[in-house]
Amino acid sequence: MSVRVYMLARELGIPNKELIARMKELGIEVKSHSSTVDEEIAQLVKDELGAPAAVVEPPAVVEPPAVEEPPAVEEEQPRPEAEKRLLKLDFPIAVKDLAVHLEMKPNELIRKLMEQGIFATITQEIYRDTLEGASQALGIELARARSAEKPQVVKKEVPEEAIEDRDEDLIPRAPVVTLLGHVDHGKTSLLDSIRKTHVSEGEAGGITQHIGAYRISSTKGSITFIDTPGHKAFTSMRARGANVTDVVVLVIAADDGVMPQTVESINHAKAAAVPIIVAVNKVDMPKAQPGKVKKQLLEHDVMIEEFGGEILCCDVSAKTGEGIDHLVEMILLQTEILELKSNPLRRADGVVIEAKMSKATGPEATLLVKRGTLRAGAPIVAGVFWGKVKALFNESGERMKEAAPSVPVRVMGLNGVPEAGARFWETGTEKEAKSTSEQLLTEEKERQMAPARRVSLEDLYKQMTAGKVKELKLIIKADVQGSIEALLKSIDELKSEKVEIDIIHKAIGDINESDIILAAASGAVVIGFHVKPSAQARQVIKKEGVDVRLYDVIYTATDEIRKAMAGLLEPRYEEFSTGRLEVKEVFRASKSGRAAGCVVLEGKIALNSDVKLIRNDEVVHRGKVDSLRRFKEEVKEVSVGMECGLRISGIKEFSPGDIIEVFQIKKIIDTL
Ligand code: GDP
Repeated sequence: MSVRVYMLARELGIPNKELIARMKELGIEVKSHSSTVDEEIAQLVKDELGAPAAVVEPPAVVEPPAVEEPPAVEEEQPRPEAEKRLLKLDFPIAVKDLAVHLEMKPNELIRKLMEQGIFATITQEIYRDTLEGASQALGIELARARSAEKPQVVKKEVPEEAIEDRDEDLIPRAPVVTLLGHVDHGKTSLLDSIRKTHVSEGEAGGITQHIGAYRISSTKGSITFIDTPGHKAFTSMRARGANVTDVVVLVIAADDGVMPQTVESINHAKAAAVPIIVAVNKVDMPKAQPGKVKKQLLEHDVMIEEFGGEILCCDVSAKTGEGIDHLVEMILLQTEILELKSNPLRRADGVVIEAKMSKATGPEATLLVKRGTLRAGAPIVAGVFWGKVKALFNESGERMKEAAPSVPVRVMGLNGVPEAGARFWETGTEKEAKSTSEQLLTEEKERQMAPARRVSLEDLYKQMTAGKVKELKLIIKADVQGSIEALLKSIDELKSEKVEIDIIHKAIGDINESDIILAAASGAVVIGFHVKPSAQARQVIKKEGVDVRLYDVIYTATDEIRKAMAGLLEPRYEEFSTGRLEVKEVFRASKSGRAAGCVVLEGKIALNSDVKLIRNDEVVHRGKVDSLRRFKEEVKEVSVGMECGLRISGIKEFSPGDIIEVFQIKKIIDTL
């Protein structure tokens, strides 16, 4: 939530100019009275300038007092000089947690940090390096080692996770494989074909179910396949922090060749740093040209063995079964190179592959064990939920005693349905699982209120100086190849010693959902040149907090990146119209002031919307809708085509023909 400066001024009862000046003194720079500030900052200003905290809105439609009263400046609270304290903190630490350690009000801490040039919100995490610069001013000294004494706010860690495995406990584990590639190139058919040709005898009678992953065994070893193919699922898991895939099989139809989603798949696999094996499928087709496919791959830096590279490649047909055994062998060969190992002798942890609510048995989740061994009866946390594992089942619906590393199992007993890609881990006791889950649920709620932006141009510099970002990853989408090349050339010239620029994906076309997921999973910023995000992409942008920047001029794009690298990029705010109304009639509504009868011409209007009153193309007033009615009934929202009656805070006069524009203020990067 953000607050407009002029609203704040009104609330504080001081002129805009004065407020802006006083905010500047507090280290909060705003451009004009229509700029916005975060709610926390607004609260901080209120605390500083002495507004009663409870007052949120000015009294409705009452004329503001003509005399501007000087603001009641509150004396600085006399607070005992903080002695220089030695603090042992775990980094990164959220500002609110740091405030607890420092026994300060969060707002006070935010202000102190600001004075030191550290602009952090209450939920933001700050790093040691950042805090070090302010330690003097805060009267603290940071201890080197982690605290032996219990800090007051303990961030729930997974202590077991931190324990490194001893080499002697590590044993080879099966690779986890995901199939990626363009639609209709045969991923699903290949998964079926591999499964049919490699069913172990014991399972032949079982009814196979889709649980999200399955295992096959050959004389040379086992493989776990994730059976939701495609790069969206693959990268969505990564965006949740789950890197489960050890090997990607890139499926390309021999009759169709490299297609846009093939390129996306290549870049998604590369961004995840997962080795690729190429499967040229449909070689049974008369039009198949496997040789052509392999040459096309060269253009995308996929160097297969045949051409002197290291990437394994095989010709297959999901239809005839040709080459399937060879593909399985290739995967196992790649596994040998990777030397995949894990320790089965520890508490289990891993990843949720998929989960659902079953009518009969409640939440069911497929877990892929990465380390340790999961057994029935184990207390676990999965995502934000917890439970005691009731029973384990494999994809053939058979009950299993235990699941070792790389083994997927369906479990029951959780108290909710975790998200695919979420982590799971076994805890020592049920009590621990329960309390961890409770804490995670609370944290999740907080996060939902203030979704974190992963990497943005705006805070690139801050993250760079905190040592959090060493390279700026970019995804470039443009209208034509020429634009991509021109952009790449200009961006290449921006390289600096402090931060490298890595273009993880570039393609022609609108910004799609998969670009956004890739950006979220890789911490990349998306640059769109003469293109827009698709409707689906827009939704994901919001959810994932990805920074998407749209440009029409190359210079503007490179200039912004350059400024971001130098820490000179200012956040930009813009007003976006979300509705338009025309005033048809004016009512003199007794003591509560004037009301207008309007018709909604475009979009919609809601109670508390910010609005501008436009007369003869000029904005004559700004305010908030403080009453909205349809046929005398108070309503929350009125949409296009409908009539309504409304009042706007602070308004003196309406005239028929006035236009009321409903708008929202957004940071420009959020508005696409
Ligand atoms: P996906 O979208 O990549 O999962 O592709 P599918 O597995 O659904 O396959 C798309 C179409 O190609 C289906 O009609 C399959 O029957 C067909 N197909 C898949 N593999 C082969 C193959 O090796 N040979 C032939 N001739 N057709 C195939």
